[in-house]
Amino acid sequence: MTVLVVGSVALDSVETPFGKADLVIGGSGTFFSASASHLSPVQLVGVVGDDYPMEQLEPLRARGVDMAGLEQMSGNSFRWRGRYRHDLNSAETLETHLGVFSHFSPKIPEQFRRAPFVFLANIDPRLQLDVLRQVERPKLVACDTMNFWIESRRPELLALIEQVDLITLNDGEARQLTDCFNLVKAARWIMERGPSMVIIKKGEHGAFLFKERSIFFAPAYPLENVFDPTGAGDSFAGGFMGYLARTGDLSDDNLRRAVIYGSAMGSFAVEKFSVQRLLEIDRSNIAARVADFRRLVAFEEEVLA
Ligand code: AMP
Repeated sequence: MTVLVVGSVALDSVETPFGKADLVIGGSGTFFSASASHLSPVQLVGVVGDDYPMEQLEPLRARGVDMAGLEQMSGNSFRWRGRYRHDLNSAETLETHLGVFSHFSPKIPEQFRRAPFVFLANIDPRLQLDVLRQVERPKLVACDTMNFWIESRRPELLALIEQVDLITLNDGEARQLTDCFNLVKAARWIMERGPSMVIIKKGEHGAFLFKERSIFFAPAYPLENVFDPTGAGDSFAGGFMGYLARTGDLSDDNLRRAVIYGSAMGSFAVEKFSVQRLLEIDRSNIAARVADFRRLVAFEEEVLA
């Protein structure tokens, strides 16, 4: 099955303790597509300016990302500049320039409107709502957001939350949105407002999937070298949604497997700048990492005598 994503297609400038990258391809829609396309067909909706290096998106197209919904407008592309200090879990946003995103109104191509899986990646909640009005009864709608929108578009974000099945947030965003320090309470606060599932990511400390009656936890893959955390969250979402779209199965067991696929894809994203590592890997790398996850958490319980 197909997954439709609407998100930012950006030029990122990133500084980490290990190096710098200037104006490399990034954005929530780009990372999501680079990740999910390993597992299922992807339809991407977004906008870029006339300064965008379109040829760098070609590897995504070649892997099955349908870009019929990616508009090119005159003006500057969305640009984000961020820095990570030694705590690689939290990005410090130095600059956000919306560029062509500030007057973008997403038009979902006719052939994308029946996508069974829809991911509203991190962009202005007004645009996320606009996309929801154009799709036809998807099997699952998920969304993401960040502090920038929680601060500047709270009413629209709350209206969006009412209409989605699942939201992904990192721990800081969940606390900021709900005003609950405790993450179990934060997830409950969100589920009372609409979504039946909440994923709270804690960077190198793993991710929780909360449902009404169950909680699942997956650790993050213990990488020896984390190079650039940018895009980890979007790549997690790509692995999670891509796996669900591939299997079409929303059972509890399959949702748990999807969280592991999300964690595996997030772990690849952080090994290099931009989408570089996501473009290098293939199914065998993904399968090996998923198998590593199993070994990481499996143990035999021994009853005490
Ligand atoms: P993450 O997965 O959270 O690390 O997402 C990083 C990506 O989000 C970067 O590639 C940025 O271009 C993109 N981004 C940063 N700020 C925003 C924003 N306000 N709206 C949409 N995308 C953003």
